[in-house]
Amino acid sequence: MSTKRVLITGGAGFLGSHLCDRYLDEGYKVICMDNLLTGSAENISHLMGNEDFEFIKHDVTNFIHVQGELDLILHFASPASPVDYLEMPIQTLKVGSLGTHKALGLAKEKDARFLLASTSEVYGDPLTHPQKENYWGNVNPIGHRGVYDEAKRFAEAMAMAYHRYHGIETRIVRIFNTYGARMRLHDGRALPTFMRQALNDKPLTVYGDGSQTRSFMYVDDLVEGVWRLSQSDYVEPVNIGNPEEITILEFAKEIIEITGSDSDIIFEELPKDDPQIRQPDINKAKEILDWEPTYDRTEGLSLALEYFRKKVLDS
Ligand code: UDP
Repeated sequence: MSTKRVLITGGAGFLGSHLCDRYLDEGYKVICMDNLLTGSAENISHLMGNEDFEFIKHDVTNFIHVQGELDLILHFASPASPVDYLEMPIQTLKVGSLGTHKALGLAKEKDARFLLASTSEVYGDPLTHPQKENYWGNVNPIGHRGVYDEAKRFAEAMAMAYHRYHGIETRIVRIFNTYGARMRLHDGRALPTFMRQALNDKPLTVYGDGSQTRSFMYVDDLVEGVWRLSQSDYVEPVNIGNPEEITILEFAKEIIEITGSDSDIIFEELPKDDPQIRQPDINKAKEILDWEPTYDRTEGLSLALEYFRKKVLDS
């Protein structure tokens, strides 16, 4: 049997680069495509020179050309932190819409399976708790976050249309908050921000009163979930996330504790449309993929801490 080939868009990003590692480990030839807008060459520098790995610098909102056969496309290209997509609203909308269209067109051309990185943001500021895949969401289309949320909702619709109309094998993963090595210190998300602040003994900036909740998953669990979904025959969206829910204020306190920092907590204005609650219902992933998270927050955070310590020292 010939070696399988996977194209990973956004492959130089936080999640994409971990997926490059995993699919190489699984014996795939990996083509990593990224325009390095929010991804970085550093995330994949250890793979340069690996003959099963190829990097193509390309913006997937433009026609995508890949030589040879492809078995699988993992479409992970997109700014993914609120700060990034507020700064790059048009690119965010374009990559979710035009980029997904181009990547699906390539899947059709190559008769490849297509896996879309979708997001818990499709649930918006949810009115049900925890969020199940059959919840349609509460998204403000014209809000600041709308550029990401609606692009991902469009991307899901597009994937399903290619599946239904063209018979493409599509998979949709709805990813909840994920953390780990290779996050950017300044990407604006809660964890890297709190780590950077705590490790520099600066005050931690909690938005609002910190009563909003999130459920944080360690990156290796996400990678395992994506791997399993890509090997499955399940077409409808699957939540991948860690149901351990925590308020942002408690989370900030945890980071102060595990870093052994003397930092205080200060409160800043809550961004508009910031979801109040978020927790995945993962029964579907358990049933269909036999997947559940294996890292609890204490374990995951202590692994992430090693990375952030080094990153802060180098910065
Ligand atoms: N947040 C915060 N302080 C920060 C950064 C983020 O309190 O310096 C809050 C943010 O308002 C949100 C939560 O932490 O309620 C998670 O934000 P993040 O950007 O990590 O991801 P989101 O889940 O909102 O996409």
